[in-house]
Amino acid sequence: MQSPTVLARALAAVSLLLTATAYASENPSPVLPASGPASATDTPADVPKEPKAPHSFDLTAIDKTVDPCVDFYQYACGNWRKNNPIPSDQVRWGRFNELAERNNYLLYTELEKASNPSADRTLLQKQYGDFFAACMNTSLANEKGAQPIQPLLQRIAALEDKKQIASLVGDIQSKEVGAAFFVTASQQDLKDSTKVIAGIRQGGLSLPDRDYYLETDDRMVKIRQQYVDYMVTVFKLAGDSAEQAAEEAKSVLDIETALAKGSISRTELRDPQKRYHPMEVSALKELAPDFDWSLYFGSIGEGQLTNLNVSTPDFFKAMNQIVASNSLLQLKSYLRLHILNANAPWLSDEFFQANFNFFGHELQGQDSPTPRWKRCTRLTDQSLGEAVGQDWVKKYFPPQAKADMERLVAALKTSLAQDIQTLPWMSEATRKEAEVKLELFRQKIGYPDKWKDYSSIQISRDDLIGNLDRVAAFDFNYDMNKIGKPVNEKEWGMTPPTVNAYYMSSMNDINFPAGILQPPFFDPTKDPAVNFGGIGVVIGHEMTHGFDDQGSKFDGKGNLREWYSPDDRKQFVEKTDCEVSEYGSFESAPGAKLNGKLTLGENTADNGGLRIAYEALMSTLASEGAGTGQPIDGYNPAQRFFISFAQVWCENRTDQSARVSVKTDPHSPGQWRTNGTVQNFDGFGKAFGCKKGQPMMPENSCRVW
Ligand SMILES: [Zn+2]
Repeated sequence: MQSPTVLARALAAVSLLLTATAYASENPSPVLPASGPASATDTPADVPKEPKAPHSFDLTAIDKTVDPCVDFYQYACGNWRKNNPIPSDQVRWGRFNELAERNNYLLYTELEKASNPSADRTLLQKQYGDFFAACMNTSLANEKGAQPIQPLLQRIAALEDKKQIASLVGDIQSKEVGAAFFVTASQQDLKDSTKVIAGIRQGGLSLPDRDYYLETDDRMVKIRQQYVDYMVTVFKLAGDSAEQAAEEAKSVLDIETALAKGSISRTELRDPQKRYHPMEVSALKELAPDFDWSLYFGSIGEGQLTNLNVSTPDFFKAMNQIVASNSLLQLKSYLRLHILNANAPWLSDEFFQANFNFFGHELQGQDSPTPRWKRCTRLTDQSLGEAVGQDWVKKYFPPQAKADMERLVAALKTSLAQDIQTLPWMSEATRKEAEVKLELFRQKIGYPDKWKDYSSIQISRDDLIGNLDRVAAFDFNYDMNKIGKPVNEKEWGMTPPTVNAYYMSSMNDINFPAGILQPPFFDPTKDPAVNFGGIGVVIGHEMTHGFDDQGSKFDGKGNLREWYSPDDRKQFVEKTDCEVSEYGSFESAPGAKLNGKLTLGENTADNGGLRIAYEALMSTLASEGAGTGQPIDGYNPAQRFFISFAQVWCENRTDQSARVSVKTDPHSPGQWRTNGTVQNFDGFGKAFGCKKGQPMMPENSCRVW
């Protein structure tokens, strides 16, 4: 359930880890399956319970039977991994999730209070409280069944010719929960970051990636069969006969497969040049003449639009072919599925269950549905995040945390500046440009200075789907309104309680929501080594994104411009190729190797982040006259730094989820974020007394930054 705003902003951003938000943005289709339905009957797991607060530097997590020079991840996390199996309502369980679950619980307690109509509520509390109450009302959802989406399904059924599809697609994208064919959103012009323009890009798939439609191994064939079974189930729930449902499912799979063939891969999409094709609307009309663009732009309220960036022109040619060659009936089935699928997580239990069985259980290996209260808390945060967040930060984000973060960011910036000055492969001219870019970095910490005003969104206590549609319409309008106006540099792409961080190339800014500024990342009661290993590496990671395979193609003003000399670019590509093949040899699940090119930017950011955070710690200790510092708990500061870093990434994943991630997630799994990174940095081997040639201190290693 992603708003176009979140999508639009997240597209150009690189985040610290993959969340639902990032997932939807990178998946061409915003039809995001929720993590699972709730049951109408309460089980003990559905009763909200306060999770324990995660703490940083966890001695009990360490497995001392493992040699840190052989497998540092297992050393730092072994006992944690043993003692923290994946809860049945999760597919991946790590330190991030512990913190995110706790933030979600604390948010839940606020929403729960605000949902009481007889309580004394502020206007904001009334709005998000009523939204939450509507979401929690499962008996009403069950009573309604498919009724909330019937008007839309009837509009699809009533289409009389293919021409009308364009205006319905526009209505779905701009006013409803759901998406079809492609995504329209505002974006900064890649070559003139002061301008906000309209952008249009590939989309329209329901499975996590184009590969799910195109690969022919047994696993993918099975997933497609399960997907067809799922479609048949929801079509039948919407009132179709078994025969009709099977026919419709076949049409949808055919159309989505054709869209997948016309889509470019995630790896290719990393190259900003490949997503930059500014053109006049008339040129788009020539690319895809069988789709009525005038009707479409009219229906989204952009009839006056003359120019836009078509990220993926070939996709629109393919889409045109699909519109031209499929019958109206087949295209109707496609639209119908997209409405059913997008709304299924929030309709009656039967829809919930069907959606969970496929997207949660079969695809990701989740044992049991996520309890309703967790899902509704997340949904409220996603829908009205800057309303909920205002009250949340007052309670959970002390001003001191912001001041501490500003100091840490400054220390990391100094350290990256030194790194740039001493980097062996870079020429003087390019070095100067890199320094200018670093100087122009902006930062945002905690929460927005100015909050979005949601007061125009009408929220009803007994109309969840209506609320979601009105939020979707608000977000779409908000996003479209940016076109042609000055860039709002203060705007946030993540809500305050989010446990994540991001960098945006076009803004050249680093962003740290309040939610991540807590243990295990940041703990003001701990020694500097622990905080530099936690949040310090996170800050360094986001900064390094400004200089990774994508970020290095943008200058300090956020414009796509080559500022490397040709020779420096050659050197850079050689260095990054080293990481591509290194990480490409790591396995995430048996037989499932990482995609070294897809994960390159994140791996580069992990490596650079670790190195500059380490140097920043050493400078800080030196400036405090502490030398290399005294041991605590038997570990000296360098060792504490690396353990703190590794423990951020302790995790367990289902086999299925690991395989989905290999296809979709630009981040490596925790094991390789840790071991891949420390084995490229001799500072680690020295701290733990490793010998050259041991696995964590190899003879040859990779270094970009
Ligand atoms: Zn990142």
